[in-house]
Amino acid sequence: MINMPRTCFLEPPREAHDAAQLLSMAVDAHLAGDSAAADHFIRKADNPIIREWTESIWGRNSPHIQATVQTISQPVAERIAIRMPNAAEKGALHLRDGHHCRFCGLPVIRAEVRKTIAKAYPNALTWGRTNLSQHAAFQAMWAQYDHLVPHSRGGDNSADNMVVTCAPCNFGRMDYLLDEVGLAHPFAREPIRSTWDGLERFR
Ligand SMILES: [Zn+2]
Repeated sequence: MINMPRTCFLEPPREAHDAAQLLSMAVDAHLAGDSAAADHFIRKADNPIIREWTESIWGRNSPHIQATVQTISQPVAERIAIRMPNAAEKGALHLRDGHHCRFCGLPVIRAEVRKTIAKAYPNALTWGRTNLSQHAAFQAMWAQYDHLVPHSRGGDNSADNMVVTCAPCNFGRMDYLLDEVGLAHPFAREPIRSTWDGLERFR
């Protein structure tokens, strides 16, 4: 049974917001030339409590996602392969949505930024092929461009149909419509405005 529409499947744990703070401190330390401190903060942000939250949402048979209909969901790899917005479209979405998930509010980081940081700190920012081998904070905070009406169900890449989200909120919904999983429309709330820049200042 679905009750009142909610803003997200499950609020991120405090540790996820703490991790964003730690990653911001890491970037500040890096920019100040203190790579040892940056390394330390990146490792400290890799908190298993964040992974538990992520897994509880995008894992199989999530207790937080009960759909009112049955739909055939494609494997994740196929869903990623569908047409995604181009760089200009993504830039426009970040201008509108900032660098926070439009559902749960979690700070997010673009994959390109993560890859740049991983090059400088490959031992601290682990990123393997399996979910469990990926840095828990960078994984959860991985910026997604989520189709409100899924591509597989006729949704297009217009700004009216897309929002910036975190990875759990995007992958957890699979190909369901918002109504089908009891989520409120994110446009009913203003985007979060904060000083969080998605670590875009990293050089
Ligand atoms: Zn989210």
